[in-house]
Order: sequence, then structure tokens, then C-alpha cells
Amino acid sequence: QPVLAVVGRPNVGKSTLVNRILGRREAVVQDVSGVTRDRVAYDAFWNGRRFTLLDTGGWEPDAKGMQAAISAQAEIAMQTADVILLVVDGQVGATAVDQAVARTLRRSDRPVILAATKIDDSRGEGEIAALWRLGLGEPHPVSGLHGRGSGDLLDIVLDAMPESPRDDVDIEGGPRRVALVGKPNVGKSSLLNQLTGENRSVVDATAGTTTDPVDSLVEIDGETWKIVDTAGLRRKVGQASGTEYYASLRTKAAIEAAEVTVLLLDASQPISEQDLRVASQVAEAGRALVLAMNKWDLVDEDRRHAMVRELERALVRFPWVERVNISARTGRAVQKLAPAMRTALENWDRRVPTGQLNQWLADVVAATPPPVRGGKQPKILYATQAQNRPPTFVLFTSGFLEAGYRRFLERKLRETFPLTGTPVQINVRVRE
Ligand code: GDP
Repeated sequence: QPVLAVVGRPNVGKSTLVNRILGRREAVVQDVSGVTRDRVAYDAFWNGRRFTLLDTGGWEPDAKGMQAAISAQAEIAMQTADVILLVVDGQVGATAVDQAVARTLRRSDRPVILAATKIDDSRGEGEIAALWRLGLGEPHPVSGLHGRGSGDLLDIVLDAMPESPRDDVDIEGGPRRVALVGKPNVGKSSLLNQLTGENRSVVDATAGTTTDPVDSLVEIDGETWKIVDTAGLRRKVGQASGTEYYASLRTKAAIEAAEVTVLLLDASQPISEQDLRVASQVAEAGRALVLAMNKWDLVDEDRRHAMVRELERALVRFPWVERVNISARTGRAVQKLAPAMRTALENWDRRVPTGQLNQWLADVVAATPPPVRGGKQPKILYATQAQNRPPTFVLFTSGFLEAGYRRFLERKLRETFPLTGTPVQINVRVRE
């Protein structure tokens, strides 16, 4: 897992910030007898990602030794870390020692992020502008004490880290996890029965596996899938009056526990706000999505055409979903479901090689440059895919990119790389 090294003079608020990151209240007192506590690694977790936090320099050298000690920290950080966080005291400003470390760190080929601590309110923020002179880019104000700014700082740190799978959705391995959701009576239970019917074996949750009792393992199309939260389906929780709220909580939990969601719609009914809300939830949770139009057997040719048009209008925000038309009752086309889920997951897992991504970017930007803002033409310097599940891209630019242009880029991205069935995220980092 990626390593974040935290470097800084004593008393700048480094330990407070480290504790903040680790979600702890008290300063850590590590009693390793006879050993100089010069490096301590902790497991940290933020936003679904795990990383190692390396707290360099836990000892307190005297003023004379300070320079040497802190250079040693910087060297260790440069050798071992993927990202370096330099912490300076935002109230004091850059000292000669800070400047020396910054000089060392500027040689690093690793990203270095500058945090200015003890900025407890917005008044202090003006003063940190002077820290730009350290040559490490934007100083990020934080208050280790109140936590102010630390979330933003961690987001920036994580963006700078090398790609690694998202742990929250990757941790298990094993069968791929599916949520089967939709309004009451849309046919969820029927579909599950259809899928687990005669020739398909239901593998029951056995002790010792990580399967939750409310999940079930189902063989579909020769592959075992885990359908999450099927207890809710079987017991028809949510259909009794007054439990709608719990049903929606349950849906949300199932979406988050799953990798791909199959959202069932009733083809004989108009698409409802509620259905669209669920689709948004899936996109926001960053999960793959398959739309299954159920009860296809009930609708005649005219309604089918109307339905398709209605869908297109309703789904302008999700033109990327995988769609299948099925009948859970007759079993019609139910076999198309598994391939749709597979495609969605394959794209959700997708990693676009940096070379291809930047080739694509160069072509698109050459043909359609970003719109001029405030008399300036923002330049897009390069792009990387920071993570997958879902594919998340970071664009490094010299200026702000309008939302319209970002949407345009997403559309172009989807034209070039197979990304149906998955949301994608495009983040923009403005570099000075
Ligand atoms: P759930 O509440 O989403 O689990 O929905 P059910 O599976 O209990 O189905 C509700 C009703 O719709 C039942 O009467 C089913 O027989 C019916 N139904 C489900 N799927 C279909 C379908 O594809 N075609 C038709 N005609 N009826 C269906």
C-alpha cells in the first residue's frame, strides 16, 4: 500500500495533525526502550483507501542538531514514501530550517504537499500566502486541533498517491456482489426465483465464509454471484405501510455493499422520481449500474417504443447505463442479465494506461480546446487515472475548467474507452 511520510520540525503541530489523520485524540506515546523513535509507521484509512503513514522524526534534537535531524527525515521520506507531507507552522511562517528542508524536498521526484498548521480560522489564512516562497506549491491551511481543513488536505494527499484499488469495495475478493433493487412489486423476488430456479443451484451461505446471512450466493450463467441483502426481498420488508423509510435505507445499504446494482423498472409503468433517485444513488456511490426493464411481456409494441424514448429522456444524466429488457415471469431474456453485469463490472474495473489517456487528451484538446476564462486559455497539462472501481481521472491544468467542458471530456472519454455501465469521475487539479 502507498506510503505517506510526514516531515516537519518539532512543535509545528505535526503530531496533532498525525493524530487527526489517524482519527485519534491523544498524542501517541510509543515506548520502545532503547530505540530511537525516528520512524513510526501507522496504518491509515481515508475515503475508502488504506495507506501507511510514516511519522518521521519523533525525537527532539537540540537547536544545533535540528538542521541535520530534519534533513535526515527528509532523506528518509524521499527514499521510502510515495507522497511527502511537509508540515510548517502557519502562525510562525517559514523558518530557516523549513527553507532548508523545502530545498531538499524540491529535489524529490515524489509529490510534496505543504501543510500550514495552527490555522484555526479563516483570519489566519491570509498569512500563509508567504509560504508559496518555499517553492512547494500551494500551502494548505489546517487546524490539527479543530480538524479544520484536514479533510481537504487528505483528499489532496490521496489524489497524489499512486493508484491502488479502493479497499472498501475490493477487500473481499470472491464472488462479485450484486444489489437487486427496485420499487415494491417490480418483480425482484420473481427475478431472484427465476435466476435460482430449477437448473440453477443456490449455494447457501456456509459458516466460515464472509457471506452475511442476508446475502445469498447464486449461480448465474456458470458463475457464482453474491446477491446482497436478499432477506429484504424474501420477507418483503418495506411493503408494509410505514416502512418505506427503512426500505430506502436498506436499498442504500445494499447499493453500497454491492459492486454492481441491478435496478429493476416496470416497463408497463411510467418511470418514477424514485427510480431516478435510486439511479443517482448508485452513481454517487460510484458503483456499476444495470437497468433491467421488467414485465416486458406485458407491454405492446407501441408502449415499447414509448418506453425507450421515455427512458432516454429520463436518463440524460446516465447515458452510460447497461440496459436489458426482461420478463422475470416468463424468463424471457433473463440470460442477458449476467453478460450486462459482467460488462458493467469490467468497465468499472477498467484502468486506462497513462500513455493512451494522454494521447487521447492531446487529440481532444487540440480539436476542441477548453473555453477561455477571464481572458486566459486554461491549459490541460496531463491526465492520470488515479483509481478504478469506478474509474477516476485527474486532470492537471493551468486554470479552471468549466463544468460544461468537463462533461464534454467525459463524453469524449466514453467514446474512446469502453466505460458503459460505470460512472466515471473526473477531478481537476489546477497547478500554478
Ligand atoms: P418485488 O416486490 O419486487 O419482489 O416483486 P414480485 O417479484 O413479488 O412481483 C410482483 C408481481 O409482479 C407479482 O405478481 C409477479 O408475478 C409480477 N411480475 C414480476 N415480474 C413480472 C414479469 O416480468 N411479467 C409479468 N407479467 N409480471 C411480473
